[in-house]
Amino acid sequence: MNQAKQLVSEQRTFFYTGQTKNVEYRIRALQQLRVGIEKYQQRILDALRADLNKSEAEGYGSEIRIVLGELDFALEHLEEWATPKSVPTAAAIPDGVSTIYAEPYGVALIIAPWNYPFQLAFGPLIGAIAAGNCAVIKPSELTPTVSHLINDLIQDVFPREYIAVMEGEVETSTELLNEHFDYIFFTGSTGVGRIVMKAAAKHLTPVTLELGGKSPVIVHKDADLKLTAQRIVRGKYLNAGQTCVAPDYLFVHEQVHDALIALIQEEIQDKFGNDVMKNSDFPHIVNARNFDRVSRFLEDGKALIGGRSERDQLLIEPTVLGDVDWSSAIMQEEIFGPILPVMTYQDLNPVLDEIVRRPKPLALYLFTEDEQLQEQVLNQVSFGGGCINDTLSHMTSHYLPFGGVGESGMGSYHGQQSFDVFSHHKSIMKRSE
Ligand code: NAD
Repeated sequence: MNQAKQLVSEQRTFFYTGQTKNVEYRIRALQQLRVGIEKYQQRILDALRADLNKSEAEGYGSEIRIVLGELDFALEHLEEWATPKSVPTAAAIPDGVSTIYAEPYGVALIIAPWNYPFQLAFGPLIGAIAAGNCAVIKPSELTPTVSHLINDLIQDVFPREYIAVMEGEVETSTELLNEHFDYIFFTGSTGVGRIVMKAAAKHLTPVTLELGGKSPVIVHKDADLKLTAQRIVRGKYLNAGQTCVAPDYLFVHEQVHDALIALIQEEIQDKFGNDVMKNSDFPHIVNARNFDRVSRFLEDGKALIGGRSERDQLLIEPTVLGDVDWSSAIMQEEIFGPILPVMTYQDLNPVLDEIVRRPKPLALYLFTEDEQLQEQVLNQVSFGGGCINDTLSHMTSHYLPFGGVGESGMGSYHGQQSFDVFSHHKSIMKRSE
């Protein structure tokens, strides 16, 4: 029996003992996970530094803190989420009592990417545990130090028949996807999302697909430009642009283009220093393959800010690229690096028409106080989620389900939605005889 088959079989046997369905058991498991994360905190930070050169502040803020926040929120609300919900009964069945029971699916598979390798493995795991499932995590091979650490942490905290890690490359993922899981939660690229969904179809396994895409940022002429520049720089250059919800490209009203670019430049200097190439805390591109892919985009326009790269160190400096249009190579695929192409508009309508014609974005950011324009954009464009007058912050709220739509994904999680996504909601009508 191969390792994946063996693991799924052990976990299914354990699931059928019914232990994980006990809410006290799940709460204890989440508490143990919390203790484990605290114990391994320094190793997590060191691993993020080793694989991506994330500083401790960035590693803690964008990975550990988010996971602990989700964990504490689940601990606080789990009993309430797991309590069967009474709902009204249709008048046609006057003696009926209607209740919805949340039950775990069984054995879940969580496949994680490399860009937030800790957060995007443990975030879904919290939902899987809270809902009462067993789970196998497959971390990304492109961040091997974090992958080993996740394996060590999980082995330290949980028996493998309950929660386990299977490390490896595409073959490992494929081996796992051949098995019959009861739920698959995948975070990664749209292309691999298709492979995952096809594999899931064989067993009719439900999936959540958290994918990528090109997320626009639109700055209207009435925007507060200083604040806008700060929030774009924060969202775009966090993790050197290797963020699924990073602003991918910028459309700015032509009247405020020059002022905004000047303020973005100031903000980059304030945040990263005069010479980012000498800033030892700026994250690097994950590997040479991605470096080559991203740095090629530098030739796609004229650098208004930045533009330098250093292959030996896998570094690309925060760059804003002008002289770009919809047909440029950089506008055909997700950039996933610290390069922001900028285009201008007089009339936003043709821009919105083009965005709508393209694959649905994971996020969209609009900077304006004009409420009519806000309504128009929200009505006209379908996208996973986003912000008005900010970037990224929609994904940090426990009360906003996070996910994509169309080619940027299906399903969502965070907060109660993480519990719901890993639960089957069983509807029961009870009548007296
Ligand atoms: P990826 O799709 O290459 O890999 C993700 C995972 O799938 C890895 O664990 C990898 O080992 C596995 N995998 C790779 N090829 C496979 C195959 N052929 N068959 C089965 N499994 C395979 O993605 P990535 O490069 O790790 O991550 C970057 C992408 O993920 C970007 O597109 C980004 O936008 C997206 N992303 C989305 C979110 C989100 O929440 N929506 C979050 C982070 C990243």
